[in-house]
Amino acid sequence: MQTSFTPAQLADPDTRESNTILRSCVHCGFCTATCPTFVLLGDELDSPRGRIYLIKDMLEGGKPATEQVVRHVDRCLSCLSCMTTCPSGVNYMHLVDHARNYIERTYIRPWPERMLRRALGVLLPYPRRFRMAMRAAALARPLRGLVPGRSMTAKRLRAMLALAPTSLPKSGNMQGPQVHRAKGQRRGRVALLTGCAQKVLAPSINEATIRLLTRMGLDVVVTAEQGCCGALNHHMGQHDAAMALMRGNIEAWTREMEGEGLDAIVINASGCGTTVKDYGFMCRTESGDLPAKAAAVSALAKDISEVLVQFGYAPTRPPTGLDVAYHAACSLQHGQKITAAPKQLLAKAGFHVREPAEPHICCGSAGTYNLLQPEIASQLRTRKLENLRRTGARVVAGGNIGCLTQLSGEGGLPAVHTVELLDWMAGGPRPAGMPAPSES
Ligand code: SF4
Ligand code: SF4
Repeated sequence: MQTSFTPAQLADPDTRESNTILRSCVHCGFCTATCPTFVLLGDELDSPRGRIYLIKDMLEGGKPATEQVVRHVDRCLSCLSCMTTCPSGVNYMHLVDHARNYIERTYIRPWPERMLRRALGVLLPYPRRFRMAMRAAALARPLRGLVPGRSMTAKRLRAMLALAPTSLPKSGNMQGPQVHRAKGQRRGRVALLTGCAQKVLAPSINEATIRLLTRMGLDVVVTAEQGCCGALNHHMGQHDAAMALMRGNIEAWTREMEGEGLDAIVINASGCGTTVKDYGFMCRTESGDLPAKAAAVSALAKDISEVLVQFGYAPTRPPTGLDVAYHAACSLQHGQKITAAPKQLLAKAGFHVREPAEPHICCGSAGTYNLLQPEIASQLRTRKLENLRRTGARVVAGGNIGCLTQLSGEGGLPAVHTVELLDWMAGGPRPAGMPAPSES
């Protein structure tokens, strides 16, 4: 694709990067067939290729983003299915990240939307605030049918209340800052990102992860200073808030790396993993030693499935023979290109792994997408649930808390994290929310 940025525009490192990305697109359109929003809406401007053109015009023009560009970029799930399909290696992720940041700086959204995005940005990444917000939402949940109107604000409010769990699980003491010592012979030392929303919604995921890793002989460090990975703010174009969170994590893990050392930084929410693996890129223009530290953190970041394969996961219980539908989170399959490991681990643990049709299509969760674009998200959820049900399995396994929340709940399926099933088969508790043995 030809571009016509001026030398002054190309002095900006983000624009320079986007120029390179744009020039690698040969507008073949292969990506359109696997883009969930194009599949649903059939509008070229809701396809990767259409968005690439819109972003190119916006950046070249150097003018404030228009309502049209914002509408179509907002509808993008950042699922990165287009990156898996693209034969030319177009880095759509970095392009759309730049576009979102540009939109945030140049476009004034209607005030209810500004307030909502701001609220999400200051609530979701902080577990205490998030817990309080979830409690309030749970109280208001029964009234969601009374929220009047067909406006986007009303739809978003109803979607938020519908997604709020009726109760929150108790958070035990495993997720707090501490070092969980290896059982038996010590084989290594890893840090665990305990995350933000996941910590509140499903502490059992971190608990299962810690049990699995310590059983395999790994010390597991949960540092006090780590927090949200920054993805939630980053994907809403809230650059400064995202950078502050990233910086905190990078400094915390660097201290561990320079202290007793780390063999890996383990991440069990694939949305967060994709972001941490990109810290090096995102911090490349920061001052001081942050770029080097960020690159070192990214190089050590691993999804839990990679670590379990590396250190040799071994089940200890006899196989249940339970059918499990494996839901491939977009951030894991498209963002991190991890496709086989979770299924191989589940099979090793004795589960019959069933794969749904259209595994490349997003479930509609996509960070805050199901709150900001409830109609498209709901259509994608229905489509995904239908495909999962057709496998005949009564339980879904996946590697990202956002997907699990999206797929379970009202009208959904029991959905657990892959590590919960693996931990169960290695001596841990039966995951809560699983169908009773007689039902499965
Ligand atoms: S598949 Fe790749 S090269 Fe082809 S239009 Fe899409 S992004 Fe461009
Ligand atoms: S990231 Fe997903 S929704 Fe966005 S353009 Fe690519 S395939 Fe479509």
